[in-house]
Amino acid sequence: MTPIQIRNQKLGRKMVSALESRRFQAYFCENREEAVQTALSLIPADHIVSWGGSVTLTEIGLLDQVKKQFQVIDRDLGKDKEEKTKLMRQALLADTYLTSANAISEDGQIVNIDGTGNRVAATIFGPSNVIFVIGMNKVCKTVEDAWSRARNFAAPTNAQRFENLETPCSINGTCSDCKSDNCICAYLLTTRFSKPAKKIKVILVNDNLGF
Ligand code: SF4
Repeated sequence: MTPIQIRNQKLGRKMVSALESRRFQAYFCENREEAVQTALSLIPADHIVSWGGSVTLTEIGLLDQVKKQFQVIDRDLGKDKEEKTKLMRQALLADTYLTSANAISEDGQIVNIDGTGNRVAATIFGPSNVIFVIGMNKVCKTVEDAWSRARNFAAPTNAQRFENLETPCSINGTCSDCKSDNCICAYLLTTRFSKPAKKIKVILVNDNLGF
């Protein structure tokens, strides 16, 4: 293992305890394959599954496996914006919701930014089984540091995925706390506690995933 992986292993195991103290069901996985198997094991066979936009979920191959094994609600199958929005609404009533985070603090607080709100809404009061998959590259010392990462790094990087966004960050690569029509930072959520207990599962992965 590299020094980074050894450090992540030590920190990740400590974070599992921090997450459990916040009533999350928490796991630390050594690699992508283990993370995929752990996530799949947390989804009952009869569940309808949906997910929020996430580079991490695609990178580890979890979405491919889920589409093979479960009934899913996939907004990307919508033919136009109206149909995609309808599918995003339906996803709020799925049984299991998969997502990642923009950042997480060492004491187990999860930070997410959302332009539409579908992802943060689903993690708060939608599906009864919510699974976060988070690479150790997204771990920050404090929740304030996590917010700094989310707003100053993750969001401006995410903005580069969209054509013609024309937000300050899409042009300059840095956040200007904008109020643009196309702002991708409308809703900012800190998830600091799972209520009910264990509704939210957190899988930390000893790898660089997403951004
Ligand atoms: S410039 Fe606007 S859209 Fe870009 S990261 Fe900042 S608040 Fe979000």
